[in-house]
Amino acid sequence: MSPSPLLQMANISKSFGSNQVLTDINLDLYEGEVIALLGENGAGKSTLIKILGGIYKANRGEIFINGEKKDIRNAGVAGENGIRIIHQEIVLVPDRSIADNVFLGREYVTKTGLIDKKRMEYETQKLLDDFGINIGADQNVRNLPIGMQQLVEIIKAISAEAKIVVMDEPTSSLSQSETQKLFEIIALLKKRNIGIIYISHRLEELFEVTDRIIVLRDGNIVAVTNTKDAKREELITQMVGRTLSSYYTRNPHEVGEVALEVKNLCHEKFFTDINFEAHYGEVVGFAGLVGARRTELMKTVFGAIKKKSGEILLDGKKIEIERPSDAIKAGI
Ligand code: ADP
Ligand code: MG
Repeated sequence: MSPSPLLQMANISKSFGSNQVLTDINLDLYEGEVIALLGENGAGKSTLIKILGGIYKANRGEIFINGEKKDIRNAGVAGENGIRIIHQEIVLVPDRSIADNVFLGREYVTKTGLIDKKRMEYETQKLLDDFGINIGADQNVRNLPIGMQQLVEIIKAISAEAKIVVMDEPTSSLSQSETQKLFEIIALLKKRNIGIIYISHRLEELFEVTDRIIVLRDGNIVAVTNTKDAKREELITQMVGRTLSSYYTRNPHEVGEVALEVKNLCHEKFFTDINFEAHYGEVVGFAGLVGARRTELMKTVFGAIKKKSGEILLDGKKIEIERPSDAIKAGI
């Protein structure tokens, strides 16, 4: 007989009013396992996780931890049972140190009743070092890049006794190297026999980091596949309920004259000599890692950031954009 799963969610159903959001969900998670929850927007992923986290109450169904039935009435009970949920939004306190944040709400106190900063920093530093995160525990959260804050959030979640860690779209604000760091952290968590539920729609990541993939569509589990047997196309078909060829649809259309032309656009620090055109009836994509300065470039075109030099032409005519209102007047 196989050991009882670390987590078992059995016949979970949930509706909001007349909107049936989850129907008879059965899910299990074993120690040291990473499962993916994959599904389109609105499939019910977050709702399922919030039920596990004691934030929503299921209309039906049961939750077992190590084979024992648990009534996860609220977030406190979820916490006592070792359930840690890392939400997409960062909820750290910006003007406090990493250590303060990690121990927020469960601070160590000295014999004389003062907050034991030294000990909190020591313990936090140990965690950061363990996970190969190269920053000082005494640093202010505000000064950290957003991706690093996300990693601190994860450290915070697992610092107290964790059994089950849920990550809801954890990489959406991480750079390539931070994502790699996250995967190293996940590998360490696996070694510590923690079970992980990983929510993402980035298929490449699921292939890299998960053991099993559970596909949710319209509140139903439509497929469970061992990651090593999973195929990209099949997952997409299961996720959207259509074949891949109809997933990316293109409407026939004509590309017209040049609408916008950017010539040798330079910014003091962010970029130099940017040249591109956008035609009428055309969609131009700008790809890049977090921090590649895509946003800053577009803000500069729009006049929200000051350029150093360069020209912007609309319909072939040079225009001066000093501030956003100029851009709006020009039709941008
Ligand atoms: P996912 O995380 O997969 O994108 P969600 O679990 O957030 O999906 O949402 C599933 C469905 O439940 C959606 O139709 C959403 O509108 C609905 N829903 C989620 N939360 C609530 C709520 N608090 N009240 C009413 N409807 C909700
Ligand atoms: Mg969601």
